[in-house]
Amino acid sequence: INSVAFIGLGAMGWRMAAHLPKAFADVRVWNRTFSKAQQHAAEFGTRAVSIEDAVQADIIFSCLPTSSEVETLIAEHLPKAGSIWVDCTSGEPTSAQYLNAHLQARDVAFLDAPVSGQTIGAEKGTLTVMVGGNANALLRARPAIEPFAGLIQHVGDSGSGFAVKAVNNMLLAVNLWAAAEGFSALKAHGVDMQGALACINASSGKSNATETVLPQRVFNRSFPNTFALNLLAKDAGIALDLVQRAKLPAPVLALTQSLIRAASDTSASDSDFSAAVKMLERWTNIELS
Ligand code: NDP
Repeated sequence: INSVAFIGLGAMGWRMAAHLPKAFADVRVWNRTFSKAQQHAAEFGTRAVSIEDAVQADIIFSCLPTSSEVETLIAEHLPKAGSIWVDCTSGEPTSAQYLNAHLQARDVAFLDAPVSGQTIGAEKGTLTVMVGGNANALLRARPAIEPFAGLIQHVGDSGSGFAVKAVNNMLLAVNLWAAAEGFSALKAHGVDMQGALACINASSGKSNATETVLPQRVFNRSFPNTFALNLLAKDAGIALDLVQRAKLPAPVLALTQSLIRAASDTSASDSDFSAAVKMLERWTNIELS
């Protein structure tokens, strides 16, 4: 691998791309708002390039809001033969299958490689990367993924990585909503919230929602915007699509998708995912603090 490129320097991409100069001399970055690419170059020793130059790299990463933006970019800017496109967007499995076939015909490999670990994991370079697509392509791309990864796991054919990511985020949503309901009940009964949190986090009902989201984002009322609620709503929708295409009953997932969609649609567009609980707070008149 002589050159790598990173497309999309948002909350995640900015931090992921910052690790690449540790391993590669030629690191190209491109962002729609181009000044961000120039800032990134100045800060991390990457090189701000045109989109045409970015897609000429040996490995091309993308981290955009949805598969639709990735499809548009690829349709307009074809990568060079022999390269590997590693899409770190939390995207749609059907889109990965389409892009894989579309690019394969041009001798370009496509890996769906969404990430988990939030902006802090991106900063530390400890992200979980769940990869769908050709295992040999992953073997070749692995050295470029390693700088920002804690775990790189192949999970199946094209679309499998996106599927695992969607289910993961659905579980985050289920756990967050359920924890918010549970703690509302405890508060209504006058229970000490910090004490309850300490007990549950040392017990079988704990989850990432109780271990980090409630204490670090909700109870302190900070709701820092590091992962947008509208992106979580998108992920819950992708997970529900998976359930429906398999014709499975999944009442908890279907309900949670509706709840998160409603919370997103009735919140300010720059809300953090943790602000989903504010919809429950409006229903109960109980503040989770
Ligand atoms: P951000 O909203 O912070 O960044 C989005 C990026 O996409 C920006 O660089 C933006 O460019 C670019 N972009 C948006 N629309 C277009 C377009 N039409 N054409 C080209 N570029 C475009 O998102 P995140 O970094 O938070 O999320 C990116 C992906 O990663 C999402 O799929 C998300 O679900 C996933 N994810 C997010 C996590 C998080 O904690 N934030 C954790 C794990 C996964 P511009 O600067 O010009 O707006």
